[in-house]
Amino acid sequence: MDNYIVSARKYRPSTFKSVVGQRALTTTLKNAIATNKLAHAYLFCGPRGVGKTTCARIFAKTINCLSPLADGEACNTCESCVAFNDQRSFNIHELDAASNNSVDDIRSLIDQVRIPPQIGKYKVYIIDEVHMLSSAAFNAFLKTLEEPPHHAIFILATTEKHKILPTILSRCQIYDFSRISISDTVEHLKYVASQEGVNAELEALNVLAQKSDGGMRDALSIFDQVVSFTGGNVTYKAVIDNLNVLDYEYYFKLTDAVLTNNVVDSLLILNDILNKGFDGHNIISGVASHFRDLLVCKDPRTAELFEVGASIRERYVTTSQRCPVELLYRAIELVNECDLNYRVSKNKKLLIELTLIRLCQLSSNPQSVDEKKKS
Ligand SMILES: [Zn+2]
Repeated sequence: MDNYIVSARKYRPSTFKSVVGQRALTTTLKNAIATNKLAHAYLFCGPRGVGKTTCARIFAKTINCLSPLADGEACNTCESCVAFNDQRSFNIHELDAASNNSVDDIRSLIDQVRIPPQIGKYKVYIIDEVHMLSSAAFNAFLKTLEEPPHHAIFILATTEKHKILPTILSRCQIYDFSRISISDTVEHLKYVASQEGVNAELEALNVLAQKSDGGMRDALSIFDQVVSFTGGNVTYKAVIDNLNVLDYEYYFKLTDAVLTNNVVDSLLILNDILNKGFDGHNIISGVASHFRDLLVCKDPRTAELFEVGASIRERYVTTSQRCPVELLYRAIELVNECDLNYRVSKNKKLLIELTLIRLCQLSSNPQSVDEKKKS
């Protein structure tokens, strides 16, 4: 068996500038290093897979680099950098608080903190999922955080900032990592595909990016999965089949039915989708997003909120021009109502069908009944 490395690891960024979708934040970190304004504790918050641990590692490497480059990046060639890149640096310690959350785990970390680094200037302690520490562990850690030795820097990472004690928050510089936008994810997937010699359709990468919900690690592992499934020919069709994603096509057909007051068509489309094995609740939330996307595409200012590829955007824009705003408002309301009632409904299929019937009636009667009474 050859050495297959998953893409999330193979393409893990090793410099600040190669981190995808966190430009403002990596620039701030780089500037802090360049101007030597380092804090003793940082808190990296944000959803999973957006680069918190990666940035913490790059940060640790960069502040220890013996000959940093003019642009503020680590040189990746000095003794310290090489040790970091080979994962044998003694200046970085990672503790996963999800599985090591006892007070003893923290005590053994605190013991190490006292020992200064042998090469490089700083020892960096990354505590992942820091919100999982027990309260006893938190308290033991707090003392060290209050008076850390000058060579120690703590980077705490969490997906759940609200669970962090205020006493910890007040001692940290806080960095909020955002979800990676769909276009940034697509760009990066395009790059990985070209490096891997994989043929990938843009629309296919778009679906992958949407599915990953702003996390690059997820995006890359779904990418690997699809590459192996398709033998390196990543088409839109293969992706939606493999990931069990509902084709845009159905939503557009449904929109046509709604716009032409065609109840029969809408029910047949629903039946078709259900027969493909899609879950009713997913269909409803898909329809809701679809109408929402049509609404934002009606105005060029909000169309920017619509994150998909150019070809599909065009289709949304032209379709949205056929939809009266009032109809879209009402449609979103109706679908949202269905979404809210879905869980408690005893006859879920009927609930969706009723919603579709009411949607179709909107085109013959775009004004709501209440408004008609008023006039
Ligand atoms: Zn270096």
